[in-house]
Amino acid sequence: MVDRGDHVPVLDLTPQIEALWDDLEAAFRRVMRSGQFIMGPEVEAFEREAADYLGATHAVGVNSGTDALVIALRALGVGPGDEVLTTPFSFFATAEAISATGAKPVFVDIDAGSFNIDPERIEGAITERTKAIMPVHLYGRPCDMAAITAIAGRHALAIIEDCAQSFGARHGGSHTGTIGDVGAYSFFPSKNLGAFGDAGLITTASDEVATTARMLRAHGAKRKYHNEMLGYNSRLDSLQAALLRVKLPHVDDWNRGRVEAARRYGTLLADVDGVVAPDVVDGHVFHQYTVRVTGADRDEVGARLDAEGIGTMVYYPIPQDELPVYAGRYEVLPISHAAAQEVLSLPIWPTIDERVQRRVADALRRALG
Ligand SMILES: *Cc1c(COP(=O)(O)O)cnc(C)c1O
Repeated sequence: MVDRGDHVPVLDLTPQIEALWDDLEAAFRRVMRSGQFIMGPEVEAFEREAADYLGATHAVGVNSGTDALVIALRALGVGPGDEVLTTPFSFFATAEAISATGAKPVFVDIDAGSFNIDPERIEGAITERTKAIMPVHLYGRPCDMAAITAIAGRHALAIIEDCAQSFGARHGGSHTGTIGDVGAYSFFPSKNLGAFGDAGLITTASDEVATTARMLRAHGAKRKYHNEMLGYNSRLDSLQAALLRVKLPHVDDWNRGRVEAARRYGTLLADVDGVVAPDVVDGHVFHQYTVRVTGADRDEVGARLDAEGIGTMVYYPIPQDELPVYAGRYEVLPISHAAAQEVLSLPIWPTIDERVQRRVADALRRALG
């Protein structure tokens, strides 16, 4: 019999909420008493604090990471007739945002080791319609931004970084999201910096992009009731901003905890045959700890871990280009196709302890045996 009381979830947010309970509660009360629930001083303060933390010139709070991507693309002028190069191996919000602007997502296969878009394959996919590159720092691992920036420079393409999984990650000393033209972040509760509902952010060094993004999030108006373009209702709630302000000063500590957990997994899994553990590269913030299962059927292994009370997830079982929404429109890309069949994300959170990780590793060894 499996004791479900001893269940290991794939993510446990309770320790960080408990640790900050009083401050979170105070922020909640402050907003309730203020009577200001959408935008306002909490949002402005969070935007300033997030911009300072990230090293960005402008930060614009929006309703979700998905909206951050759509608004970023539109603020850069991407629309119908344009092509945007991106990775097939991401959550569907990435390609969905490109399609939502009327542009066409063009998928460039990934690098097998990093799971990120392979810079070596980008130039071969550029056409006269290509307007931008949208790299995704998947699982919190920074893409090769030096190579991507060089390619974008040669072909005059914009870069929109999908940082939904990489808040706090760095590449060459800069935070992800401040290297390209625009960074788009999600504060979905399970992300490395998570809100208590939906929330997102756009960063940019461009005054013009920031101004347009601010208009787009509020129905295309700079001045209330003077709408100049078709926008969205995509404002950031004051409550989410106030709660995010409590959490933001802790994100580096939390990310360090994730990296330490990743190193421990690396040691614990070193002698487990049939799984390939991810590299712990500089700047990675391990939103997910994702192994490749090469020695057995991945779904079978996931089911065996579940039977032992250990939660796992598959991010993602189907590459974006192969999703039903795009049926028949793209050729299968072999590296992301294989990754989708082999990846398995193990339990990770900032304060996961070695005892729990050892249980996961032991169960994985049994599942593969
Ligand atoms: C979570 C996520 C998004 C979407 O963010 P939401 O806040 O859920 O809209 C976009 N891209 C990636 C890679 C994500 O993981």
